[in-house]
Amino acid sequence: LILSDIFQSGVEPARLYRDVGELAAKRGVEKLIGIGPSISSYADEIHTQEKYCFSTVADFIHSPVFKGLRNEVILLKGARRFGFDRITELLVQKVHETVLEVNLNAVVDNLNYYRSFLKPETKLVCMIKADAYGAGSVEIAKSLQDHQVDYLAVAVADEGAMLRGNGITSSIMIMNPELSAFKTMFDNDLEPEVYSFRLLDALVKAAEKEGITNFPVHIKLDTGMHRLGFDPEKDLDKLIEKLQHQNAVIPRSVFSHFVGADSDDFDSFSALQFERFDKASKRLQQAFEHKILRHMDNSAGIEHFPGWQMDMCRLGLGLYGVNSRNNEIINNVSTLKSTILQLRRVPADETVGYSRKGKLMRDSVIAAIPIGYADGLNRHLGNRRGYCLVNGCKAEYVGNICMDVALVDVTGIDCKEGDTVEIFGDHLPVTVLSNILDTIPYEVLTSVSNRVKRVYFQD
Ligand SMILES: *Cc1c(COP(=O)(O)O)cnc(C)c1O
Repeated sequence: LILSDIFQSGVEPARLYRDVGELAAKRGVEKLIGIGPSISSYADEIHTQEKYCFSTVADFIHSPVFKGLRNEVILLKGARRFGFDRITELLVQKVHETVLEVNLNAVVDNLNYYRSFLKPETKLVCMIKADAYGAGSVEIAKSLQDHQVDYLAVAVADEGAMLRGNGITSSIMIMNPELSAFKTMFDNDLEPEVYSFRLLDALVKAAEKEGITNFPVHIKLDTGMHRLGFDPEKDLDKLIEKLQHQNAVIPRSVFSHFVGADSDDFDSFSALQFERFDKASKRLQQAFEHKILRHMDNSAGIEHFPGWQMDMCRLGLGLYGVNSRNNEIINNVSTLKSTILQLRRVPADETVGYSRKGKLMRDSVIAAIPIGYADGLNRHLGNRRGYCLVNGCKAEYVGNICMDVALVDVTGIDCKEGDTVEIFGDHLPVTVLSNILDTIPYEVLTSVSNRVKRVYFQD
């Protein structure tokens, strides 16, 4: 039992803690950890096999008592002001040997960094698609909602419905609305992006059937990505006409997407995209009386083309701490951590792992860590192409990375079983991995699988 001082019980303290002690004994509590000055001074009233007292949570966390917790069933009960959340987080981490730590303060710092480029009246959409770029959309959405962002954007309707179920009331945009999910969108106030006549017609039909009017939608124009969107030249007249001859949906915003705002090489093409968008979106606006929000900038665009922020911007990768223009870390958000499960000495003439790929040049010490390609540790990092950090030292992956386990060369590194290993994060930027893998940080971040427990931090 981990118990803090008990406030406002109305019972005199000596009596109170004697009662607690009796209850604990009756319920078979073997170990009591008391936190707070009051419980500490009345500890004599409590008779358990083992008993430890600390003034604060911090004292406890840094004590050998905390480090020694193993194979126990723990009941935590603490007054809010003691901050027992910190104990919970650390205990969760002990149980899950591989975790993705997410720093919510860093998310807010990144939000403010990008907001500093915006005029006060410019609205902001925060992209939390793909489970918030791997960081976990519910917690990220809660933080963003607390900081009053204007819109959240997810990929599919189910992600949006899940956020609604978790108490998110912000406006939500659905970037890839499926034809089968209109009902989910209507029921949960999820505003779809509309990029084709096929989608528009089906949506209008479904809304009319439900008797819905003026359901907000976001019109996507294709200005150069050539992925999804209406053609600003060929489709615009027909689009305006269709929108005007129904009242099931109403265009809330119109937008397009830069193909290369992250690189100066594409500046002239970006300018062409903006020109196409500017012309078409103004024509759309002229056809309606109500204000239609115009937006184009993504994270890189906010920084590189602040003059084109118009009414709204869409912040994605930058929120998660990576600047896509220079691959630098702004404030690191996610840290993927594992632990050393087992250490072994392997002689130089032996090999490590499947297919004898892990050849050794010397007698080596090899650590097994419980993370594999099924967790999102890319198999191409194996065979010494990538490394992780063991107690701050670079340790290469030897041999093939397995499904659930990876092997790292820790020869000469001071470490022991149970030590923490950083896969990427605070000390090893995710961009180091994406560079080795010849990909973008987006892919590494979104690859961390669902079975990796997310643990959130906030001061
Ligand atoms: C994902 C996405 C963004 C965000 O892009 P970042 O490069 O992550 O800032 C913006 N707009 C659209 C349409 C997107 O799909």
